[in-house]
Amino acid sequence: MTLTSSSLISRAMSPGAGAKDVLTDLRDAAAAWVAEAEGGRFEPELPPDDRTLGAQLARHAASVLLAGGSPPEALDSALVRLLYTGESEALRARPDADPDFDPAGVRPLADLMRDYPARILGDVAERPAALRNRSANVQLMITRRCQLRCSYCPVVKRDEDMPREVIDRTINLLLGSSRESIRLDFTGGEPLLRWEEIQRAAVRTIAAGEALEKKVGFYMVTNGFELTRSRAEELASYGFRIELSLDGSEEAHNRYKVPVDASENPYKHTLAAIEMAIDARLAHTVVMVVTPQTVRDLRESFEHVLHLGVQSIDVNYAIGRTWDDESLSIYLSALDGIVEDHAMRLHSGDLELGNLTSRVEPAILNAEWMVNTDGSLHLMTEWALESSRPDGSQDLSFGSIADLGTWDGLFAGRFHSYDALLRTYAWRDGELRSLLHNNVSTGRLVSQRIDRLRGILR
Ligand code: SF4
Repeated sequence: MTLTSSSLISRAMSPGAGAKDVLTDLRDAAAAWVAEAEGGRFEPELPPDDRTLGAQLARHAASVLLAGGSPPEALDSALVRLLYTGESEALRARPDADPDFDPAGVRPLADLMRDYPARILGDVAERPAALRNRSANVQLMITRRCQLRCSYCPVVKRDEDMPREVIDRTINLLLGSSRESIRLDFTGGEPLLRWEEIQRAAVRTIAAGEALEKKVGFYMVTNGFELTRSRAEELASYGFRIELSLDGSEEAHNRYKVPVDASENPYKHTLAAIEMAIDARLAHTVVMVVTPQTVRDLRESFEHVLHLGVQSIDVNYAIGRTWDDESLSIYLSALDGIVEDHAMRLHSGDLELGNLTSRVEPAILNAEWMVNTDGSLHLMTEWALESSRPDGSQDLSFGSIADLGTWDGLFAGRFHSYDALLRTYAWRDGELRSLLHNNVSTGRLVSQRIDRLRGILR
């Protein structure tokens, strides 16, 4: 079967194509893409440059498909691109915040597309596999307590733990998904403050996974304060990978890692945790968070971490910070330099740079699911700016984990993340709106550079 995108494009190209037309077109396109996903052949015809929403949507979606993307990815990418283009135009036209100002006409489209999986993709049970929830992991915010107050951390801290029923309900949902491999991610706050619950959850998930013949994995973001040699060994036996944040030398690290107990030295704790992870053969990744203020030291800091014997490193630009052209250019050049200096090790797999393998850009639109301490379900991206939340902003919870029927029905993409960030933070706050767009455009430029670097290493 050969399908073309001509009906989508000709309708979208008609003068004044509005959001409703786009919705109809998308429904038709989705049907074609589903057919493609099921073995047909799709030959998009790229429309010439046109500024109507529909034409832009068709063009972006077709280009993703031509580059080998999947139908849901094409739909999501096109919607993100459109939202970005329209929002950028709105920002250029009037930088101050005005929730009703929408010169690019994107707001109605966002309103219509908000629940596009339900509108376009139909009943969950009848949905093709390609259009079900593709994520195999969930983030559990197991506590909001933490021994640190890192200056770039957006998570609101309070004395609040996730109840056991919420942990168990989430595990059951994930186990009930159609995924063959699942991963439980512990985050916070500092997850190791809930050590007994982590042990219990891991043992329970492994046993249930074996009974269901599912592959089970675990991930934990930790500051290392509560890690001990025996805990490291136990975590390794469960198959955990831990993520430790180390920003460079003692001075560089402690500049932003502020302990609640002033007598503590965060650098020493993280260093000890890295040594314990290496000794216990506990899989680990060190994340370096770089800000526009520290980016000049990035290569030196990278070498510092490397000399500790770490073999998996992520060099992350801080989101929630504005990246000016100069700082971004220094960051991109530093990535180039790191790849150039360590090309042999990166190529052989002896060293892993997470930016090239697993990080999704723009990072601020991360569409992973997260369960809050109270059991409410959110897109993880919502936490990127949590501590900057404007007064009176609406709660964007997708419901409670207790009421969720199936994991498979939770289809969401970067469009939903973008839309959630705009609605929660940015539509009513000009500064946050500029910040969001800065982080999205930063992510797009970083993504282009990463594609190039991957090509060099191939
Ligand atoms: S250790 Fe993690 S949760 Fe705690 S303040 Fe730092 S970044 Fe936030």
